[in-house]
Amino acid sequence: MAGNRAQDAAAQIVARLRAAGHEAYFVGGCVRDLLLGREPEDFDVATSAPPDQVLTLFEKTFAVGAHFGVVLVCNPGPANEEIVTEVATFRSDGVYSDGRHPDAVRFSRSPEEDVKRRDFTINGMLLDPELLSARGKASDAVLDFVGGMKDLQIGLVRAIGDPGERFTEDKLRMLRGVRFAARFAFDLERRTAIAIQQLASDVSQVSRERVREELTRMLTEGHAKRAFELLDATGLLVQVLPEVAKMKGVAQPPQYHPEGDVWVHTLLLLGGLSAGSPPALAWAALLHDVGKPATFRVAPDRIRFDGHVETGLRIAEEIGRRLRFPNHETDQILSLIGNHMRFADVRRMKESTLKRFFRLPHFDQHLALHRLDCLASHGSLDLYDFARQRFETLPQEAVRPPLLVSGKDLIEAGYPPGPQFAQMLAVAEDAQLEGVVHTREQALAVILERWPRQ
Ligand code: ATP
Ligand code: MG
Repeated sequence: MAGNRAQDAAAQIVARLRAAGHEAYFVGGCVRDLLLGREPEDFDVATSAPPDQVLTLFEKTFAVGAHFGVVLVCNPGPANEEIVTEVATFRSDGVYSDGRHPDAVRFSRSPEEDVKRRDFTINGMLLDPELLSARGKASDAVLDFVGGMKDLQIGLVRAIGDPGERFTEDKLRMLRGVRFAARFAFDLERRTAIAIQQLASDVSQVSRERVREELTRMLTEGHAKRAFELLDATGLLVQVLPEVAKMKGVAQPPQYHPEGDVWVHTLLLLGGLSAGSPPALAWAALLHDVGKPATFRVAPDRIRFDGHVETGLRIAEEIGRRLRFPNHETDQILSLIGNHMRFADVRRMKESTLKRFFRLPHFDQHLALHRLDCLASHGSLDLYDFARQRFETLPQEAVRPPLLVSGKDLIEAGYPPGPQFAQMLAVAEDAQLEGVVHTREQALAVILERWPRQ
C-alpha cells in the first residue's frame, strides 16, 4: 500500500535524524489522520536539525523552502518510485504584516514552540514513530502540547492559542478551519467560530488562487454541502462568493422546485457531490443557477427566470476571472452551466442534435450535473436515464462518423469556395447523423438540392 511505504520512508528519515543526534517526529495532518484511523495523504517530519544539516544527512534533497526551514527528502522506493517527504525544522514565526506570511521565522530547538505556530489543535500534534512501532497504537505515541487529542475525540476544530490573533496573522486559516470542520463533520469551536465571523471580511487579503484552491477542495472532498453551510454561517461566503450568497431567499416555482429556494436547491446539489468529483463539475453544481437571483420575476402564471442561463454564464465567467481559474477549467464550467437546461429537450432532439450534444467534451459531467439537478428538485430521472442510455449505447463512430464530403469535394462539384462551405458541409453532416445519407454521392445530392448550381 502506498500509504505504508510513505510512512516507512518518513520513519526512516526520523531514525536517521535521531541517529545524528537530532530530535524528530511526524507532525501535523498525518498524525491527525493516524489517530482518526484514516490513511494520511502524505507524511511530514518536524526536526530540531537546521536545514543545512538536513541537506547533508540525506542523499537526495531539495531545499524548496530552506528559508522557512523546509527541505524535501527523497527516498528511493521500490520500482524506482520515489517517495518525497517534507522535513521542516522546528520554528516559531515572527510577525505577519501582510496577513499571509510571517516576515521572518526563527528556527527553534523546541517541538512545543513549533506546534504553537500551527493552525488548529487537531493539526498541531507530533508523533514518535519508534514509539508507534513499539506500542502499536497511535494514541500511545503522540506528543500533544495543544490539546489536540481531546478536540479530535469531541469533534472540534479549535485554533491554537488566541483565535483572533491566529486569523489576523494568516487569513487563509479561516477557510482551512471551515474545510477541516466539513471534512471531519466537526464543529467549529465557539471562540474560533466567533473570531472567523469577526474577521471574515479580511479574507479579501488572501490571494485569489489560494481562495480558489480552498473552495475547490471543499467542493471535491465529499462534504461540499456542509462546507458551504459553514461558509455561510461564518460570513465568509458573502466575502468570497457574493454571487452565491445572493441565492438565499430567491423563491422558485413550487411545481418544479418543491425543495425550496435557489440556495436550498444548490445546497442539495452540493450534497450529492461525492468525494473526488471533477472540480469543473463541482463548481458547475455550485454555479449552475447563479443567474437566477438577477433574473427572478413574478410572471402572471408563475415565477420565471427568463435568460438565467445566459446571465449565469456572464456571472460565472466573472468569477472564473476573479478567482484566476485556468482558462480550460472556466471553459468546462461554462459549458456545463450553458448546457444544463438542454436536457429538458433531450427526448425531442433530432438525432443529429443529440449526437452533437454528446460531442461536448466530458459529456459524462453534463450527465452527472443533470442527475444532481433532478435529484435536488423533482427527483425524476426519466430524462437522465434516457440520455445516459443513448449516450452509452451509441458507438463513437455513430456520434462522430468520418465525414462523407469535404471542401475539396464541393470545389470539384463546381461550387466557388466561400464562407457558405461550412454551412453546406454541416447540412451534409446532419443528414449523415440522421442516417439519411450513407455515401459521398448521397451527401452531395443533399447539398445540390439545397444549393442548386446556376
Ligand atoms: P490535508 O489533509 O488537507 O493535507 P494537513 O493538515 O496535512 O491537511 P497541510 O496543508 O498539508 O494540511 O499542512 C500541513 C500542516 O502544516 C498542518 O497540519 C498544520 O500543522 C500546518 N499548517 C498548514 N497550513 C498552515 C497555516 N496556514 N497556518 C498554520 N499552520 C499551517
Ligand atoms: Mg497535508
